[in-house]
Amino acid sequence: MNVSDFTFDHYGRLLDAALDNDYTFYTVEEYVTRAEHDDPHIVVRHDVDRKVATARAMAHVEAGRGISTTYYFRTSTFSPEVAAEFEELGHEVGYHYEDFVKTRGDFEAAHERFARNLDEFREHADIATICPHGSPLSPHHNLDMWHGEYGIDRYDLTAEAYLSVDTASDDPEKPSYVSDTGRDWATTIADFGRISTTDDLIAAMESGTCDRLYLLVHPGRWSRNPAEQVQRVAWDVAAEAGKSVAKGAHALGRSSGDWISRAMRDRV
Ligand SMILES: [Zn+2]
Repeated sequence: MNVSDFTFDHYGRLLDAALDNDYTFYTVEEYVTRAEHDDPHIVVRHDVDRKVATARAMAHVEAGRGISTTYYFRTSTFSPEVAAEFEELGHEVGYHYEDFVKTRGDFEAAHERFARNLDEFREHADIATICPHGSPLSPHHNLDMWHGEYGIDRYDLTAEAYLSVDTASDDPEKPSYVSDTGRDWATTIADFGRISTTDDLIAAMESGTCDRLYLLVHPGRWSRNPAEQVQRVAWDVAAEAGKSVAKGAHALGRSSGDWISRAMRDRV
């Protein structure tokens, strides 16, 4: 865990490094709908789990540099005003859904709830893509609501952020998935090596060895000032401790090895 990392200063330098090295930024919707992508390129996905004020500040930091990214809002972090503001800044607004977990794995109820929430979001924003919220303390995984005839096309959606974007850090054709979960980017890119700190990620961009990146950035994990920094680190320490306990519980309670759910739980 990198205690002094993940400040807005680091984030600004990360964005500048991408721009200086000619990365093209794509929103998730742009990325999945384009047949061809410019190299190098980067997709930045934000899960707004909490702390909308920090997400808003981040949205402005990006827009100030002419960068558009994708922000996924939960029902608890979404509001018509915020959606309008983010779209106005040029960002994509998406739905960070958790309906399967909230309905305790009731498939029918999850779809009813999902449809209702999506309709509500769509009254205020153009929702084309969605992304599952990870709930490590629940035995259910939100991605499990998609199977059989229940696909995302049922809802006129363009993409599901996990199912529609194929990532791999050992295949240069595919974007490398890099996430800030746990205050450590924790990725090894085949031609570059280990990426742990934001400075490592910047060095990777400057090295010319990772031309395709898919970043998950949780605004709520980043701090704008020293007081927030202390708060964030304390919260992350507690969250990681909780996840370790939950992982043990999952291992005992769930024998079916659903790899994508496991990957998701580890990532979000
Ligand atoms: Zn989330």
